[in-house]
Amino acid sequence: MRRDRVDLHTHSTASDGTFRPADVVRQAAGHGAAAIALTDHDCVDGVAEAAAEGVRLGVEVVTGIEISAEFGPGTMHILGLFVDPAVPVFGAAMARMQTARHERNPQIVRRLQTAGVAITYEEVVAASGGGQIGRPHFARVLIEKGYARDMNDAFNRYLKRGAVGYCERFRFAPAEAIGLIHHAGGVAVLAHPMTLGLESEALRAELTRLTAAGLDGLEIRYSAHGVADEARLRVLAQDLGLAESGGSDFHGQSKPEIRPVIGRGQLAVPVTVLDALRRRRPRAVVAPAEPR
Ligand code: AMP
Ligand code: ZN
Ligand code: FE
Ligand code: FE
Repeated sequence: MRRDRVDLHTHSTASDGTFRPADVVRQAAGHGAAAIALTDHDCVDGVAEAAAEGVRLGVEVVTGIEISAEFGPGTMHILGLFVDPAVPVFGAAMARMQTARHERNPQIVRRLQTAGVAITYEEVVAASGGGQIGRPHFARVLIEKGYARDMNDAFNRYLKRGAVGYCERFRFAPAEAIGLIHHAGGVAVLAHPMTLGLESEALRAELTRLTAAGLDGLEIRYSAHGVADEARLRVLAQDLGLAESGGSDFHGQSKPEIRPVIGRGQLAVPVTVLDALRRRRPRAVVAPAEPR
């Protein structure tokens, strides 16, 4: 098989994916990947293992992260590609995000218990397999115990904002996340822009603000994007001078319809996309916005 595709958005057991980092690389190679970025939520813990497997298989592994940023009532995820985790300010920021999860997760358990759900923190830890704990791990326990039919049902009934188990956690503001990524030598890409839930003018206005804050790229090709989404995002990227990125958002068995590199079967991100993003890497270290 020719390996001339890339996948710049993947998750492993280091966060809420179900396959180990090395496995993600193997599967991506099997679907034609020349390169992948491992972009676990708020951490880079899986990258060393993925990179070692990449060397074995001849797949470039880009060090990535997907940072959850503060965004009103919605979700904003900012991908950092080519980040250097050894940069101290960046390491401290990741530690802060870990602490925020450690504070939040037991509270989710308490809220669910108060609502009459028989769930323990130990069960959630077991579901996480030792990596960072996120809401999808709570969802797995809820499904196993018959409280929910599937992931979506678990989020809707128990875990999404406004549901009984929901608990806020600290998130960086978008401009802070972008500044941190640049400071670590990385390129900042807005993940799945349609999940901001904005109509066209509001989306343009938000992207204009993010671009002013230093955003480098937009995830245009994505597993859940239709032809119309891609076309819309391509116009915005062109108007704002943003680079194109693309990825599957592979999570393994928790979203079994999505495979690495090919997404739902329709996804194809050429190597040239990665080359153009690489050229956006900051040349000098940029001081991040003052951390709060
Ligand atoms: P956390 O970062 O721990 O707050 O968990 C958020 C993660 O849960 C997101 O990054 C998604 O991977 C996942 N998620 C959020 N909403 C849903 C949903 N409705 N169905 C399945 N997974 C979801
Ligand atoms: Zn996830
Ligand atoms: Fe995301
Ligand atoms: Fe993701």
